Amino acid sequence: MYSKFQDFLQTEIAGIKDAGLYKNERVIITPQSAEIKTAEAGDVLNFCANNYLGLADSKVLIDAAKKALDDRGYGMSSVRFICGTQDLHKELEKKISDFFGTEDTILYAACFDANGGVFEPLLNEEDAIISDSLNHASIIDGVRLCKAQRFRYANADMADLEKQLQDAQKCRFRLVVTDGVFSMDGNVAPLDKIYALAQKYDAMVMVDESHSAGVCGHTGRGTTEQYNLIGKVEILTGTLGKAFGGAVGGFTTGKREIIEMLRQRSRPYLFSNSIPPMIAAAGIAMFDLIDKTNTLQDKLHSNTSYFVEKMKAAGFDIKPTQSAICAVMLYDAKLSQDFASELQKEGIFVTGFYYPVVPKGQARIRVQVSAAHEIEHLDKCVEAFTKIGKKLGILK
Ligand SMILES: *Cc1c(COP(=O)(O)O)cnc(C)c1O
Repeated sequence: MYSKFQDFLQTEIAGIKDAGLYKNERVIITPQSAEIKTAEAGDVLNFCANNYLGLADSKVLIDAAKKALDDRGYGMSSVRFICGTQDLHKELEKKISDFFGTEDTILYAACFDANGGVFEPLLNEEDAIISDSLNHASIIDGVRLCKAQRFRYANADMADLEKQLQDAQKCRFRLVVTDGVFSMDGNVAPLDKIYALAQKYDAMVMVDESHSAGVCGHTGRGTTEQYNLIGKVEILTGTLGKAFGGAVGGFTTGKREIIEMLRQRSRPYLFSNSIPPMIAAAGIAMFDLIDKTNTLQDKLHSNTSYFVEKMKAAGFDIKPTQSAICAVMLYDAKLSQDFASELQKEGIFVTGFYYPVVPKGQARIRVQVSAAHEIEHLDKCVEAFTKIGKKLGILK
C-alpha cells in the first residue's frame, strides 16, 4: 500500500516545488531577537519575526520561567480540569482579563486552539457566523467545526458586512468575527464601524487580537483600546506566541458566561494538555512588565512610524498600515523572491510573499518592526532596501 501512496506524495510534492511554493526552513542558531545568526546567512538583522515588543529573549521573562521551572516543575501531565491547573494558570488568566478589561479568560495551548474551540460550543445551526474574508486559517477551521450558518464579507468592507448582517437577521444569534490586524497588509479591522453595525443588527463581535495585542492602542491593549471599545466586545482571542513573549499559548477572553461555557465544552481545552508552569509564570511577568511602563509599546510605535516614513521617502510603495507590519509592494512574484534573497546577502532577514498567500499580482515583502530594533537597525534596513531597489530597477 505505502509504495502507491509514496508515489502519490512524491508527485504532489514535486508539483509544489514546480509551482515555486515549497517552503524551506531557515535555521537560526541564536535566541530570537533583532540581531540573529542563521546557519545559511550568518549574522543578519531580523525583520520577519512577530516579536513586536522584543520580549522573546527578555531576561525578565527568562528569569520568571527559570524560577517556575525550579519551583513548579516542568510539565503538568494533565488537562486543566483533571489535575492540570496550578495557581499560576489562574493568575495568568486574571492578568489577561485585567489587561484587556474583560470579565474572564480561558487559556489554550495556542491561539489556533482558542479559535478552533470557540465556535462549536457556543453556536449551532440556528445561528450565524459572519466572517471577514481574510480571517486567519484557525478561524476558518474553527467555523468549519461549528454547525452555524456561514456568511462571509469582503475584507473590512462595511457595506458588504451590513448586507450579510441583513441576510442573517432570520438567525437566532449572530456573531461577527474578524482579525484585529490582517497579517499580510497590516491594516486594522475598522472595529468602531463593525461594532456600530453589530449594535444596529443585534449581533455579537469577536476579534482575534493575535497581531494587534501588544501593538495597537497606546498601551498595546489591542483594537478595543484603539477604538475606545474596551470591555464592549463579547469575545477576544489572542496568542502568547507573538508580542507577548513569543513562546506558546493562546487565550479567549470576554464575557463571563461565554468563558464559563468554553470551560465546559471547548474541545481543545478539555482534551489537550495545560501549558507548562514556566510559560504561565513568564506570561504573568510579561503582563506585569508591560503594565508597569509603556516603554516597549512607545518604542514599537516610534520605530514603526520612523521606518514607514523612511521607506516612503526612499520611494517605496508601502501599504497603508496601522500596525507593526509594513508591506513593501513589488507586485511581481519572482521579483519579491529575488529582492528578499538580495536583502539576505545584505544582512537583512525578511520574507517575500506571493500568490496564493496574497492575491495574484500583489507580491510583496513583509517587514515586521519590533521594539527590539534600534534606529541604526532601521536605517540599515532602509539602506539595504534602497540599494537593492536601485539594483533591481524598482527605484530610480
Ligand atoms: C498567529 C495567529 C494565530 C495562531 O496563534 P498561535 O498561538 O501561534 O497558534 C491565530 N490567529 C491569528 C490572527 C494569528 O495571526
